[in-house]
Amino acid sequence: MSKIVRMCINCRKRFFQKDLLRLQCKEKKIIKYSGIGRSFYICKDCLKDEKLVKNLVKICKVDRESAFNMLKEIIDNG
Ligand SMILES: [Zn+2]
Repeated sequence: MSKIVRMCINCRKRFFQKDLLRLQCKEKKIIKYSGIGRSFYICKDCLKDEKLVKNLVKICKVDRESAFNMLKEIIDNG
């Protein structure tokens, strides 16, 4: 198993890559990493952190409601 360590963009703690959710912002949509382009990592604890939506708004330059809804969809779809 890979021992690559990456930082969660929300809490800035470091985790093994396999324990993080890898997302990207593409054309103002927050999606699971497609394999191409820039991406960022979020740890499981931060998925329920209110601050995360704020950070996603900054990263993806979307409004708060869109960020919240897109994040919810990603979480709901596993
Ligand atoms: Zn985190």
